[in-house]
Amino acid sequence: MQESPAIDRERYDAVVVGARCAGAATAMLLARHGLSVLLIDRDRHGADTLSTLALMRAGVLQLHRWGLLDRIVAAGTPPITSTSFIYGDETITVPIKSRNGVDALYAPRRTVIDAMLAEAAAEAGVEVVHGARLVDLERAADGRVTAALIGEKGGGVRRVGAGIVIGADGRRSTVARLVEAPTEHACHNVCGVVYGFWPGLENGRSRWYYRPGIAAGSIPTNNGDACVFLSTPPARFHGEIRADMEAGYRRGLADCTAELAGEVAGKTPSEPLRGFPGEPGYLRRSHGPGWALVGDAGYFKDPITAHGISDALRDAELLARAVLRGTDEALAEYQEIRDDLSRKLFEITDAIAGFGWDMESLKPLHLDLSQSMNREVEALLGLDTPAQHAGRTQ
Ligand SMILES: Cc1cc2nc3c(=O)[nH]c(=O)nc-3n(C[C@H](O)[C@H](O)[C@H](O)COP(=O)(O)OP(=O)(O)OC[C@H]3O[C@@H](n4cnc5c(N)ncnc54)[C@H](O)[C@@H]3O)c2cc1C
Repeated sequence: MQESPAIDRERYDAVVVGARCAGAATAMLLARHGLSVLLIDRDRHGADTLSTLALMRAGVLQLHRWGLLDRIVAAGTPPITSTSFIYGDETITVPIKSRNGVDALYAPRRTVIDAMLAEAAAEAGVEVVHGARLVDLERAADGRVTAALIGEKGGGVRRVGAGIVIGADGRRSTVARLVEAPTEHACHNVCGVVYGFWPGLENGRSRWYYRPGIAAGSIPTNNGDACVFLSTPPARFHGEIRADMEAGYRRGLADCTAELAGEVAGKTPSEPLRGFPGEPGYLRRSHGPGWALVGDAGYFKDPITAHGISDALRDAELLARAVLRGTDEALAEYQEIRDDLSRKLFEITDAIAGFGWDMESLKPLHLDLSQSMNREVEALLGLDTPAQHAGRTQ
């Protein structure tokens, strides 16, 4: 990290690195309240990324609160009006209650939701640049981050002064690395995931199947597809599935649920299957002088509880509100609230990803998960409208 040498010729209130659910949402909210914001991403606009796509109630609520849920619906994302938990041979179906503007859950393709959020950010006045990569940060003599060095498509480096640099740049966050953000809590368990998009499956209900040592699910998404995933402990993923992903996936589905295995039998997925070997979860320190982290850059947990996008949309608002208050104390409070709302989700996810459960011990974990998710919904509903920011610094 370099020391800041010069007066900024180009300056934004905030530079946000990573233009997907965490970064685009944060940038949009800041710009809606009058801040000048540069949002960059090394990917192209609308690019896909790894995900089984399920939004929990808090995520859908955020889209509703920001006036963006209609766009997800208009993109043809099917409403999910009930969720079935299938424990071995026992099925428990829970209808999605209509509350606070959310009458269904959704699982939009990342090509839909991430692109929509980046477009909403641009509409709010954010300068959005794809194909640009953060390469370094500059600090003032007192250690405060003051500028971002951005590698551009043509090979040049753009130096941009920033009131704050926000890392929304995912699990391999460059911002977290450059500011040396410490990991404050770590998970122990990981699982491997393989998923594919299948046409013509049941639409309108998400299904989550569990048997000892294996889990699977079907989540309706765009284009008439359902995302069908298989989660296994790492030994099975590395020992069996990796060598022949499709054969291992079909065998795993058959071991977990004859129903789902039968529905995809003889069919070809709409796109090649995708695999994720797993990565241990972490909660990183998420703020410091002139910097903050949001989304996976600051907080990641195993996808088996399908909560990362909802976390990102929740924390985008918590961080934006802290940045609007404009003090280091507000940033510290952002992390306190994030950690308070996340710690239980984090621990339950770690327990589920460990596959040490049987059908009877898994149910109370799901109950705890549901209570933690209700708590975060209540926290979001309790947020007032942040005051309009007084002025731009650009
Ligand atoms: C297999 C799998 C399945 C999942 N399933 C679900 C699910 O069902 N539901 C759910 O809610 N969550 C799920 N998740 C988690 C979810 O995908 C993440 O929590 C979510 O993507 C986090 O969003 P983000 O915006 O923080 O980061 P990301 O989506 O990782 O986006 C980060 C962006 O930063 C950009 N970037 C990185 N470095 C730089 C740089 N130096 N300069 C410029 N740009 C940079 C990247 O190009 C990327 O576009 C899953 C994750 C995995 C791996």
